[in-house]
Amino acid sequence: MVDSEGRGVQVKENIKFTPSLSEQRHKFVLDFVRKHKPQKVADLGCANCKLLWRLKYHESIEVLAGLDIDENILTRNIYRLHTGAGDYLDPRERPLTITLYHGSVVEKDPCLLGFDLITCIELIEHLEAKELSQFPEVIFGFFSPTTVIISTPNSEFNPLFSGKTLFRHPDHKFEWNRTQFQSWALDAARHYGYSVEFTGLGEPPPGAEAVGFCTQIGVFVKNIPNAVESLHNEKTIECTYTTVGTVIYPSLKEEKYLRKAVSNEVFSQILKLKRALLESLKMKKDRDSGDELEFVKLECDKSKNDPTEETPKPFCIGNVFYIPLERLFSFPKIKHLCGDLETLKMLIADEVRLSSDGSSVMINIVDEEDCDLSDNDWDDYSGEERNGGGSHGTCL
Ligand code: SAH
Repeated sequence: MVDSEGRGVQVKENIKFTPSLSEQRHKFVLDFVRKHKPQKVADLGCANCKLLWRLKYHESIEVLAGLDIDENILTRNIYRLHTGAGDYLDPRERPLTITLYHGSVVEKDPCLLGFDLITCIELIEHLEAKELSQFPEVIFGFFSPTTVIISTPNSEFNPLFSGKTLFRHPDHKFEWNRTQFQSWALDAARHYGYSVEFTGLGEPPPGAEAVGFCTQIGVFVKNIPNAVESLHNEKTIECTYTTVGTVIYPSLKEEKYLRKAVSNEVFSQILKLKRALLESLKMKKDRDSGDELEFVKLECDKSKNDPTEETPKPFCIGNVFYIPLERLFSFPKIKHLCGDLETLKMLIADEVRLSSDGSSVMINIVDEEDCDLSDNDWDDYSGEERNGGGSHGTCL
């Protein structure tokens, strides 16, 4: 068989890509995001919102927007972007707001200004000739994001498919060969101050390498980054899109979620330390065969690279277990969440009982259900703070 350029190509029945081409295109975008860490990303022609759904897991992204001309597809698929229990149990480090807009990619709307990345995955071939002619001015001229990824079918690959349809999808208005796409992209890039590089996905089968990738991709990078003033000037333009929905994710930037995350981590470490204490007491009791014990030092963390090693050790006076805040702060996750000791103290102050000098968390052990030492054992351990504060407020 001969392709549109007169080159001989080998015809293959039922060409299949694994993973699917659609997944490969999304992975291409995700890899790009992983590498360049954009904060604001918009997917135009977002359809079933699957790419947005994948993008929402990227920590760098704080604003995600999706736009489609088909309102129905957006309302049917927005559920993919809703928050779930896991988002509250383990909140993101940074805030994330996702908004879906109904509108056309050739309408100028200020809500898509100032983005770091705009993706148009298999979109342009759905545009009528008039829309296609307006597209570069809106995307590169008006929205003017730092980077743009555009993918579209490579028509040179089509003869390798077994079907007889003109285009790969009934809604496609055209499909370009590589020369057509590249000259369109280079023109747009030159005109609006971008540089563009071409690549693709979906290798042709052996013997048909000349047709190129099944999907062709242009990656555009703005030559001069946005001046802040130009963004503000453009904001005088009226909004044309309608908002289908907005989803706001919980993040550790909000104090209530940070407080909860720190408390969870602190309680989890306290629980581990308490278990180690009980073990240590049990062993000591066996060794001393009933001798009175007034002060127990813990030796629960003995590993060489233990980050807590240099910090004050937890101790027990009577039936009260003291865990120095310094010790808790030395656990990497707690340190990461709080930043400094004072913040740790402030964040857990309402959740735990602190010693009178504020340096340790106090846990009354006798009331703990899983304390497997008998009351008599504990009656023997006297200590000055033993009856100091009860166990209320300390819940493991
Ligand atoms: N990007 C998606 C699907 C692309 S299909 C993916 O990667 O799977 C093309 C999508 O573009 C369709 O959902 C269609 O409704 C939308 N579309 C077509 N013309 C449009 C326009 N002028 N403005 C915005 N979206 C458009």
